[in-house]
Formats: sequence, structure tokens, C-alpha cells
Amino acid sequence: MRNSWLLCDFHIHTDMSDGSLPVDEVVDMYGSKGFDVISITDHILDSHTFKEREEKGESVCAVRKDKFKEYLCILWREAERAWKEYNMLLIPGAEVTNNHKWYHILALDVKGYIDPTLSVEEIVKRIHDQQAIAVACHPDLKKGEDKNLSWYLWKNHEKYRNLFDAWEVANRDDLYNVIGLKKLNYIANSDFHESRHLYSWKSLIESEKNTEAVKSAIRENKNIAIYLFRKQ
Ligand code: ZN
Ligand code: ZN
Ligand code: ZN
Repeated sequence: MRNSWLLCDFHIHTDMSDGSLPVDEVVDMYGSKGFDVISITDHILDSHTFKEREEKGESVCAVRKDKFKEYLCILWREAERAWKEYNMLLIPGAEVTNNHKWYHILALDVKGYIDPTLSVEEIVKRIHDQQAIAVACHPDLKKGEDKNLSWYLWKNHEKYRNLFDAWEVANRDDLYNVIGLKKLNYIANSDFHESRHLYSWKSLIESEKNTEAVKSAIRENKNIAIYLFRKQ
């Protein structure tokens, strides 16, 4: 018997970093819309950008290293509730955010803090040491982004093509055609920060509904489809 297709979103922010909603509201929103798998991936931030924001008196908008355990505990608790109330799998994650050199990397099923100041290779090694999944986020310019901004992972995509378990072929409203053309492993996510971002690109994965099976499907790039989720 074939597994059913799971509706998945692996890139979601809450008010624990720069998202607008608290985690329980995010879980209730996705759960009530019938999602099968979500990953909460709040930002953790490189030390240069962290310092810059603090010096300017700006809010840091990221989970601090000393709060990371607490962050994971909150996600584990919400994961239990999501499963009980909605039969929805919640995979704890983080967006390893380097705004100094401009690379953002999702760590799905993360178990400990990873310093975003490290090099791309070191970050991915630490993600894999935790048996977590490494995803290259919005690898090229997003709609409305400053044209002078140059995403590091895109500049180096040939070098890194096999380093990542997957690349975002779609992020919210944007499609990254070249990820398909270059035959890189792919998933599609919303990069959810506020309610309206729910209606955006998602992944469908034909898999058993458990974390290890979903991770294997992403690694093998097997039975994955992308889907534009619209308001019904
Ligand atoms: Zn953000
Ligand atoms: Zn990002
Ligand atoms: Zn993000």
C-alpha cells in the first residue's frame, strides 16, 4: 500500500524570533488547516549582525544562544500538543542566519545550538552531526529584495550542490527555477512570518508520518511535489 501525500511546511517563524504570532497560535493555525508536518525554524544569528543590532539599540529578533534549550523545550511541548490535537507532526528546527556573509540555512530536527558565524561547511557538518537536515534557504534574490544583495549560497551553488540535503525551489511567492534546471534536491516552504504567508508554496511528501521517514524522503529527494496553497 502506498503512503498518503503529507502537506508540509518546513520554514516557519514565530515571535520567538521575528515572526508576528506566538508558537501556540501558529500550531493552531496550521493544525486547523489540515497540515500533516510543520517545522518551526526561528532565526539564530551570527555574532557580527547580533552586535550591530545591539549597538544600534535594535531588537535582535533571534533566539539567543543561552535561550536555545528553552526554545527547544517549548517546541517539544508544542509538538506533543500538535500530535494530540491535530495529528500533526512538529519537527523542531532553526534558521541558521548569517547576515554578515548572507547565507541562511535551515536545520530541521535540530537538537542543539549551532553558531551561525561559522562557515557554511562547518554549519552543515554540525547539522549533520545532529542527524538533522540542512536546507539552503531562498538561495537567490526574493521579490522586492535589494538588487545589490548577493546570496552567498547561490554564488557558490555548484560548489555546494551536494552539501545540502535540499534547496528551496520555492519560498513563499517566489520560484527558483534554476534549482529545478540544475537538478538540485528541492523542497518548497512559506518562510512564514505572519498570517497572510500561510497562502504560499508548500511541499507534498509521500511518506509515513514520522520524523525519520520525512527526513529520509528529503535526503533521497523521493516522492516530493511542490504545491501552491491558496485560500479556499
Ligand atoms: Zn525572518
Ligand atoms: Zn531567511
Ligand atoms: Zn526564514
